[in-house]
Amino acid sequence: MIVFESPSEMQKTVADWKQSGQRVAFVPTMGALHEGHLSLCKIAREHADKVVVSIFVNPTQFGKGEDFKTYPRDMDGDLAKLRDHKIDGVYTPQESDIYPEGVKIILQAGPAAYGLESEFRPGFFDGVATVVQQLFHHVRPDVAVFGEKDYQQLCVIRQMVAELNLPIEIIPGPTMRDNLDLALSSRNAYLSDDELKTARRLSATLKNLAEEITEHPKDVDDLIPVATQGLLEAGFDKIDYLELRADNTLKPLSRLDRPARLLVAAHLGKTRLIDNWPVSP
Ligand code: AMP
Repeated sequence: MIVFESPSEMQKTVADWKQSGQRVAFVPTMGALHEGHLSLCKIAREHADKVVVSIFVNPTQFGKGEDFKTYPRDMDGDLAKLRDHKIDGVYTPQESDIYPEGVKIILQAGPAAYGLESEFRPGFFDGVATVVQQLFHHVRPDVAVFGEKDYQQLCVIRQMVAELNLPIEIIPGPTMRDNLDLALSSRNAYLSDDELKTARRLSATLKNLAEEITEHPKDVDDLIPVATQGLLEAGFDKIDYLELRADNTLKPLSRLDRPARLLVAAHLGKTRLIDNWPVSP
């Protein structure tokens, strides 16, 4: 496994791999790797000869008062896991590699970014689009894998790749969950044992609500407030949003008339959890 610390080393090696006819897959991450990230690496491996993973905690996607400084970091542990998974290259750029001029230009994410996360984390997807575009420029992959765990992010990236005509195929990876269906997340490390029990109610609520909406497709606007209240009663402190949106376009839906997703963000103590669940008509 090669650890690339500079964009030029990264670009040169990928150019050599491609020159010899090898396909390159890329998995961008912020580190503190868990089985969710590693599942994306396995998908990447199915689509390419070489797999590159990046580890970079991107400052421009954290708002004021968010956890940029305290975000879990474990470079040695991450490298050991990636070595075990036979990853070919790990890209660990510095802030000055990604933002060589300081932060002078920020991309504006497209309409998939409207509402949901953006309402509560203004500028978040602009930061994500900017860093991913820059990482794509350094790694130049043929395919890149993004988790459905961050469903709105996946839609934003797909839209960016289409809009900028980037020659990169975006492949979604299903959300990895623990044995009680809690979506794995680096931020789960913040949860106490009691909070973990409550956190597991999030996916259970989404699953039940998805079934209810499928049974009563016109009653979305009545069912969602009941489910939101249920989460508050279960111990969540605040629900930022719980919404039904069309698959891919993320158009708001008040009746289920096409394949859709429930998306939720909820606060539990000092942790903010997000999750989503597919809903079929
Ligand atoms: P992050 O390190 O949080 O920026 O995530 C890096 C990538 O891993 C993103 O594409 C996430 O959507 C994906 N990811 C995070 N958690 C999971 C999970 N539980 N299952 C699948 N993919 C995940």
